[in-house]
This record gives sequence, structure tokens and C-alpha cells, in this order.
Amino acid sequence: MITVTILEFAMSVTGLPPYDDANIFARILRGEIPCKKVHEDAHALAFHDINPQAPVHVLVIPKGPYVSIADFGAQASDAEIAGFWRAVSKVAKDLGLEAAGYRALTNMGVDGGQEVPHFHVHLFAGRRIGRMVPKAEG
Ligand code: AMP
Repeated sequence: MITVTILEFAMSVTGLPPYDDANIFARILRGEIPCKKVHEDAHALAFHDINPQAPVHVLVIPKGPYVSIADFGAQASDAEIAGFWRAVSKVAKDLGLEAAGYRALTNMGVDGGQEVPHFHVHLFAGRRIGRMVPKAEG
């Protein structure tokens, strides 16, 4: 299990199908690995990121097997898409993030820096999050 975790931290993925049932978020959805859950409904699960990059760093994932935002937008049903995005907004609201604001972000593929091949939205809050994208070096 440690090996899997280290690999998923270290490697970027394509963000394209096929879906890998062994990815860490699939295992969390199946209850094989614990998570610090903040919300669950028919279409989404939200939990704290294991390596937080802000005072609040929560991940929201759909329950269906979608690799990335590209796969989700192309393949998910209207109900899954509506349910998922409503959950993202609800989680942020229920965590009290709306007053000060927050950033919602998703990474897709290698250039996007995606590491876990199950679509997820990051919610960052609790401080000024800063530039939308770091300046290019050089
Ligand atoms: P990304 O680079 O967008 O694919 O982000 C993957 C995120 O998943 C990273 O912020 C990791 O810290 C987080 N992560 C990896 N494994 C776990 C885990 N077991 N529980 C919670 N978050 C995790």
C-alpha cells in the first residue's frame, strides 16, 4: 500500500480512459482505504487531502469511474454532472468557505499535473491562495 501511495504522488497521468480500478480514490470509494470524510451523497464523496496545500484542502470526487474532467464531461450522465457540481458548491458552503472565498481547481493530464486518475476537484481555502497559475520560469 505504501508503494502505491508513493507512486501516485510521484507520477502524472494522462487523464484519458481507460479507467484504472486500482487507483487510490477508487479504493477509498470501495472503503478499502480510509479517508477523512466531509460529505457523501448519491453522486459525490468529499474528504480532506492527505497532503494539504492550504489550511483547508478538500477533494470532491464523483462516485462514477471517470478518469478526469475530460472523461467526466464526455461520458457522465446529466444527473451525475449536476449532482457532482452541486456537491462541490454544497461542500464549500457547508465548510463555511463562501464568506472569505476559496479556489476550486482540477488537474487534467500530464501538463495539468494530474496524479490520481479519478476525476477530483480540489477546494483550497483558509488563506489568500495567490496567483492562479505560477509564472513560467526563465
Ligand atoms: P492531483 O495532482 O490533482 O491528481 O491531486 C491528487 C491529490 O490527491 C493530491 O493533492 C494528494 O495529496 C491527494 N491524495 C493522494 N492520496 C490520497 C489519500 N489517500 N487521501 C487523500 N488525499 C490523497
